[in-house]
Amino acid sequence: MLADPIVQTLLIELVEEEENLDIVQCLLDGIGTDEEIAEKTGIKLNIVRKVLYKLYDEGLASYKRDKDKETQWYTYDWEFKVDELQKLKLKRCNTELKELNERLDYEENNMFFICPSGHYRLDFEDSSSVEFICPQCGAELEFDDNKDVIDELKDHIEFIEDIMSQ
Ligand SMILES: [Zn+2]
Repeated sequence: MLADPIVQTLLIELVEEEENLDIVQCLLDGIGTDEEIAEKTGIKLNIVRKVLYKLYDEGLASYKRDKDKETQWYTYDWEFKVDELQKLKLKRCNTELKELNERLDYEENNMFFICPSGHYRLDFEDSSSVEFICPQCGAELEFDDNKDVIDELKDHIEFIEDIMSQ
């Protein structure tokens, strides 16, 4: 599950460091207390706790509290909520697809002009309003063939649709 690139991006945003994904992996493997996780991963206990609460805040983890009969201390047994992660992933994919399709639509239905030094890339309307002169360096804007941009957007859309259908 952690090999899924979208899941990985989502989780790394949350847990901040890539190595903290090990904490998620522990939960997936059924290792449920902060101390066991710290021991298994070598990550400091306070960081493990911080990450667990972060996951909890996002609805991706829950815990059961138990009292240790001998020490009278509370222990927390954590669980990762795979269903919630799937929901989050689907939501993220849909948002990204919507943005990509809007950009594709814009690229397919417009002509673009670009400054030879790369300062500006403008659609026809904006280029007309600056009389096809780069507002920064004064060079004449050139027609920009956006076939590659369109191909790249289409590839990206296909990639996400692929992931969603898995
Ligand atoms: Zn320029």
